[in-house]
Amino acid sequence: MAVLRKIKSILDANKQAKASLVIRLLNPVIRGWGNYYSTQVSKRTFAYCDHRINEMLWRWAKRRHPKKSARWIYQRYFPRQGSRNWVFSDGGYTLATMTDVRIIRHIKIQGCRSPYRPNDQEYFVTRREQLLLKRLNGFQKKVVRKTSGRCPLCGCNISVEHFRRWQNNGEDAILFARMIPERLGGHDTIENVCVTHRWCYEKYRAAFGYDVLPDNPERFLSNQEKIVNGRVVWMHKHLSRDEELKDYRMA
Ligand SMILES: [Zn+2]
Repeated sequence: MAVLRKIKSILDANKQAKASLVIRLLNPVIRGWGNYYSTQVSKRTFAYCDHRINEMLWRWAKRRHPKKSARWIYQRYFPRQGSRNWVFSDGGYTLATMTDVRIIRHIKIQGCRSPYRPNDQEYFVTRREQLLLKRLNGFQKKVVRKTSGRCPLCGCNISVEHFRRWQNNGEDAILFARMIPERLGGHDTIENVCVTHRWCYEKYRAAFGYDVLPDNPERFLSNQEKIVNGRVVWMHKHLSRDEELKDYRMA
């Protein structure tokens, strides 16, 4: 792999350098490669790279201190950090690992692309869309494409990070919401469902009042609201976990 060859060449060129310099030279390579491939390469490949990098560092350290024992090298260059071992460090600087980079999962950005350069804008729009649509089902994809990933209530782009957290951690910063509630004739169709910020959804509902009957079809209610004697009231019905999830994910 190109990145491993590159790291080897850096180590070969710095056989006698201090560990801190080696770390500062390697970190941008590791982070750069990790960021670039974080969405394409498997976890195992990243773990494998980390393993190979540590092997190379071990050999680098052995060559630097030919008379020292393995135990000495281990304690000197791979000091235990909490629950983690085999983290190359000189006490001050710590080597980045691909596994961590992948977890942080930066948005992949091609080498010299910039969102501020007009020629590259198309690339970033496409890239953003790819990230937004990742792992959504067919219905959700169409809903997101309908508004180009914008929240129709505030008109702003919904960040990729919101989608990612919603998918990975179930955080509720975004919501697939029915614009017209079911009991007013709205269904779970692509036309009727929009992806919104949770905050905008709450704000919108608060602004229009919880107890006023909607006079425009844009008004939407959650399925915990009900019209009783011409007024909208909250149903404090207990939802089962499955119902909650269904309500939440809408598909
Ligand atoms: Zn919004």
